[in-house]
Amino acid sequence: MRYLLSYLLILCFACIEMGFTKVDEEVWGFYGHRKINRMAVFTLPQEMLGFYKKNIEFITEHAVDPDKRRYAIKEEAVRHYIDIDHWGEEPFETVPRQFEKAFWKYAKVHILEGTDTIQAFTDLSEHAAFASLEQFYEDYIFETKQEGKWRFDDKATNEFKRILDIRSRGSELHIEDTFSGYGILPYHLHGFYWRLANAFKNKNQKNILRFSAEMGHYIGDAHVPLHTTENYNGQLSDQLGIHAFWESRIPELYADDSYNFFVGKAEYKKNMHSYIWSVIEDSHALLDSVLSIEKRLSRTFPENQQFCFDERLERTVRVQCPEYAEAYQNEMDGMVEQRMRDAVKSLGSVWYSAWVEGGSPDLSVIGKIEVVDSEEQKKLDEQFKEGNIYGREH
Ligand SMILES: [Zn+2]
Repeated sequence: MRYLLSYLLILCFACIEMGFTKVDEEVWGFYGHRKINRMAVFTLPQEMLGFYKKNIEFITEHAVDPDKRRYAIKEEAVRHYIDIDHWGEEPFETVPRQFEKAFWKYAKVHILEGTDTIQAFTDLSEHAAFASLEQFYEDYIFETKQEGKWRFDDKATNEFKRILDIRSRGSELHIEDTFSGYGILPYHLHGFYWRLANAFKNKNQKNILRFSAEMGHYIGDAHVPLHTTENYNGQLSDQLGIHAFWESRIPELYADDSYNFFVGKAEYKKNMHSYIWSVIEDSHALLDSVLSIEKRLSRTFPENQQFCFDERLERTVRVQCPEYAEAYQNEMDGMVEQRMRDAVKSLGSVWYSAWVEGGSPDLSVIGKIEVVDSEEQKKLDEQFKEGNIYGREH
């Protein structure tokens, strides 16, 4: 009997475990991402509204493609966050806002001859020949997939030595990217913005839709304080699970019934680069409250009323009880709702600005596009279902 009981117990823990993974992988909940994309449509000016409304189902559904892509390609994970606090006390002062600058600032660079290190370099971002290093990045590093570590001989090494005016020996160049692993969200977002602007410029209807939908995803992530920290799931402060609590559980419980998504009209952002960084700064400024309020609450709220069991997709999952979620939401003074509202307005503004930047093409002639699930999309969905994620869960 005792044997049977413990067996059942283990079985049950296993099902909870499995349940956890399923829920945790739904970042901003899939629910939150879809909601943000959907509501952002209604912030748009007349010239854009019709087109986006006609395609609102596509815009909604594909809000979560970037998260699915994390099961398909390795490079995707780091686009969803930036662990800005990894980079010191005043990271917004320290970390360069241009990607290549950040790359060369933190990259580990060595020139070797056989096994001898001839020369090591630190912080090449301030080097007088930086413009040539940018070109070097473009020519030899960008889009070569060597998992953050490159080893060059001959041509590239000579080129590198020429740029830095190095005459010592050494025929092998080693470069290690020690920056991207801590997240590149704002850089990716900015690059993606220009891809969308270009899609408008070229009147590439399919890309306008695809990039608009995916843009919503990254904008959504940028509004979540826990997407700006190394302690992204409370694992460093004994608050494991806080990520999904904040961005999935709370919106799922309250957004439909009690959040107000009338956020006003989209606004043209003249300087998209600094705007994106200001969103990240705002998110990060809220991080302390996100963590400290939950910490305090977890100590005062009756312990046996913090977690409940829920049935989802025929699985039993352990989630925060509605009462506990409500208490947390109230203590934060409506922060989750406010960040969601900000994300909605922000996304509308980014779409609108990209459209202006792309020459304000006439969208009224485009109409509803039948986007058939491409092979690529099918593969994406399959890999997502298989469920082997690259990088972290969040
Ligand atoms: Zn994401």
